[in-house]
Amino acid sequence: MSIAFDAKGEGLAIGIDLGTTYSCVGVWQHGRVEIIANDQGNRTTPSYVAFTNNGRLIGDAAKNQVSMNPINTVFDAKRLIGRKFSDASVRNDMKLWPFKVRGVGDKPMIMVNYNNVEKKFAAEEISSMVLIKMREIAEAYIGSVVKNAVVTVPAHFNDLQRQATKNAGVIAGMNVMRIINEPTAAAIAYGLDKKGSTVGGKNVLIFDFGGGTFDVSLLKIEEGVFEVKATAGDTHLGGEDFDNRMLDHFVQEFKRKHEKDISNNPKALRRLRTSCERAKRTLSSTAQTTIEIDSLFEGTDFYTTITRARFEELNMDHFTKCMEPVEKCLRDAKMDKSIIHDVVLVGGSTRIPKVQQLLQDFFNGKELCKSINPDEAVAYGAAVQAAILGGEGDIDKVQDLLLLDVTPLSLGIENFKGQMKVVVPRNTTIPTKKLRLFTTVESAQTCIKFPVYEGERTIAKENRLLGTFKLKGIGIAEKGVPEVYVCFEIDANGILIVSAEEKSTGKKSKITLTNNCKRMLCNEEIKKMVKEAEKYKSEDEENKKKLEAKLVLFDYAYNMKDTVSNLSKLNRADKKKIVDAVAKTIRWLDENENRLAECEEYKDKMTKLENICIPIFTEMYKGAS
Ligand code: ADP
Ligand code: MG
Repeated sequence: MSIAFDAKGEGLAIGIDLGTTYSCVGVWQHGRVEIIANDQGNRTTPSYVAFTNNGRLIGDAAKNQVSMNPINTVFDAKRLIGRKFSDASVRNDMKLWPFKVRGVGDKPMIMVNYNNVEKKFAAEEISSMVLIKMREIAEAYIGSVVKNAVVTVPAHFNDLQRQATKNAGVIAGMNVMRIINEPTAAAIAYGLDKKGSTVGGKNVLIFDFGGGTFDVSLLKIEEGVFEVKATAGDTHLGGEDFDNRMLDHFVQEFKRKHEKDISNNPKALRRLRTSCERAKRTLSSTAQTTIEIDSLFEGTDFYTTITRARFEELNMDHFTKCMEPVEKCLRDAKMDKSIIHDVVLVGGSTRIPKVQQLLQDFFNGKELCKSINPDEAVAYGAAVQAAILGGEGDIDKVQDLLLLDVTPLSLGIENFKGQMKVVVPRNTTIPTKKLRLFTTVESAQTCIKFPVYEGERTIAKENRLLGTFKLKGIGIAEKGVPEVYVCFEIDANGILIVSAEEKSTGKKSKITLTNNCKRMLCNEEIKKMVKEAEKYKSEDEENKKKLEAKLVLFDYAYNMKDTVSNLSKLNRADKKKIVDAVAKTIRWLDENENRLAECEEYKDKMTKLENICIPIFTEMYKGAS
């Protein structure tokens, strides 16, 4: 049976893998998952947004123009989302980005020039633009409106990063039904593929090596239940690092060969980087490849070759580093590598033969599981989860699947000695609810402060502060007498709510942490961003119309120019009239090349030109017949 609409009339629910470098979208239809190709025919879409004087571009169109417009082309928003400007990782990333990031308060804001105006965007807004694109890709394919989506995040994402990702969905005007972990999504794809053979339980290691991040997760799959046992990884290791190494290598080579330094020329670097990424991909299937760039720098061409062996040598330290999180993950899960049933490859960088070889060696020659497409597995699993949550009609194959995710970091409260009192230990299965008893440390103390932290260090300050709240109005009592229960509740999205309740006097008060404006965007800000997102969307449509009007005028003017120059029948005076009018129009088009004028202006110029040309031609043809 095939289905076109869900019961609620909100269209099909889709699964989106919102990647650092590439995103992918899938939908459950006709009894299986379809990974949806974009308007360029590609099944993954660059997570790029570009701002130009002719409007906004998202995906392939944005990435393709990056060398022309590097400072207004934004990528890597996922590295910023849910982070503070003062974060060390943000500081480091900023050095490498061609676009500008500024701290507003402690929130990193991306600065771009859009339609000749300085604009600032939060990472959530950029991610929302990528989500809008993915949704449009799905809508074009499905042929109806899409409202609901499951969006994936790396397993190591903390509460703030998850919240911010959810907000990106809200800004995009979508209902994010659930945030799920990328490795879990990949495991669903794997589990579905292997269904029937998981009886008795299977331990599966998901090795997700993408463009900018590396994640390892260990899951136990048993008859449709997916339980994450442990996760580990490196938030800053991926395909882009290999591109960078190759780029450095070629910059040096260019210097040696041509005695010219391109390292300060963003456009040349960008072109070379694009070729490096392509070469890297080619080297996954061939032993040698070429780079051919015409006029790379000051008119000098760059033609060269690179072998797979050389590429591996350039990146060997990166590759070997990948094995550490694998060991850590096994240690945390208290499993020996011999009891891992399958090692599943996910992410574009797992196509690199050396990475596969090192991993295979680590598992003593075990065959790696390549039955699922590494670029699509995450979106695939998200689409399955979306279908389950959306209650699609024909999912009997999958509706008995159940997800059990875990918290990536320990969560707790700083006590009066400055120690971290863990309430929810790392790798606890979610959703979860944990209570812990606290009390006063002074007599007649009526207020307790609860700083909530995330991390593994015993000294609270060395962990990450998520937020602080107070419980006031505690009844007067001796120290240590009031019983205050602090409750940590994590929902299925991995989002945390902390509350405290005082029992000793029978009075109750409760505080939640989720809507703390300081930690994340508050509702007002989100509402504003939603409005703006709608505005940008209608601007996109408006720009499209303007561009069409511009092209119509452009075509007409140049057509006239050609026609007139080839016409001998036209008298001199009339010919001059047309030539002058066409020249005037073309001059105006040239002067306004870098901006889009209003549709009316184009139409107006068009009418004026037509009013000169049409009567003359009409007369001429009358004369001819
Ligand atoms: P992310 O989820 O982090 O956005 P992906 O899993 O989509 O990333 O992987 C993208 C990365 O994989 C890019 O760096 C890309 O260059 C790399 N990649 C894609 N195909 C290949 C290949 N055949 N060989 C090597 N690297 C590849
Ligand atoms: Mg990925």
